[in-house]
Amino acid sequence: MIVLGIESTAHTFSASVIKDKKILSEVREMYKSEDNKGIIPNKCAEFLKKVKDKIINEAIEKSKTDKIDLIAFSQGPGMPLSLYIGFNAAKELSKKYKVPLIGVNHLVAHLEIGKILTKLKDPVFILATGANTQIIAFEGGKYRIFGEALSIAIGNTLDKFGREIGIGFPAGPKIEELAKKGKYIELPYIVKGMDVEFSGILTKVGQLFKNGETKEDLCFSLQETCFAMLTEVAERAIAHTGKKELLLIGGVAANKRFIEMLKIMCKERGCKFDVVPIEYSGDQAAMIALTGLLGYKANKKYDVSDIKPNWRIDQVEIKY
Ligand code: AMP
Ligand code: MG
Repeated sequence: MIVLGIESTAHTFSASVIKDKKILSEVREMYKSEDNKGIIPNKCAEFLKKVKDKIINEAIEKSKTDKIDLIAFSQGPGMPLSLYIGFNAAKELSKKYKVPLIGVNHLVAHLEIGKILTKLKDPVFILATGANTQIIAFEGGKYRIFGEALSIAIGNTLDKFGREIGIGFPAGPKIEELAKKGKYIELPYIVKGMDVEFSGILTKVGQLFKNGETKEDLCFSLQETCFAMLTEVAERAIAHTGKKELLLIGGVAANKRFIEMLKIMCKERGCKFDVVPIEYSGDQAAMIALTGLLGYKANKKYDVSDIKPNWRIDQVEIKY
């Protein structure tokens, strides 16, 4: 079965063609604000609208297929203006090819492609992106959130601090570099039950920077503290669920120190650990096509009447 997937939940427009579980093509473009200050929703939507046809055509051409059996699109969660661009494009394509349309939960898609590419079967997931930080595991027919960042996500925490110290956006990679030359300064360590809270830490590192502490020491300490908190809750989720695998997903999964901490914890517990290959850890449509295919094969009826900007992962019933 050949599926064309469309992704447009935030800053990326992507199209991908898959045949069963094989990715035939994947093309994406990302909106970047001029001053690197983050996403301006209507400017971003304008950009996505401008590039969408070119990206879709390129993905179809590269796949060398002349038939498409299903259109899958990212239905949520995400920014409404961005979501509509993908939704409208997908509706048009479904009419053009006279094939069914299926809506995919963007977060479920991040997990599914992770499982497919790493060959882990039933892991605890750490989803660590710019906008999301969740510890997730499959239980009772749904992906359940065992813990999450209460106010601000890990990627966003790093990016906000990066802005304060003037290293630009996205800050994660630069913070990782600076941290290599830093030493530890104590920061608040805030784990509440299974949840983590980064906002107090962010305020504290901002104050310490104004008081003259070095970027290097603050980057090192910020990483050590935030990643230790996430490692702690991931370990507890593994203990609670009895699962034997851990999978790290999202842009923050590029961080070598984070990977190292999780590896050590998993080794101590006899748990398998893997990281989603970096080219598929960000937003892309291959994950939407793959997840659309799984959903379609499970014969699940989908409501494709509108986008779902606030669609939580634990609201999706998984029948495959
Ligand atoms: P995503 O939302 O999944 O596209 O991921 C983007 C986030 O990943 C941004 O907040 C980046 O700062 C962060 N990021 C990228 N590379 C790294 C890295 N090496 N270390 C930490 N965070 C990173
Ligand atoms: Mg994403």
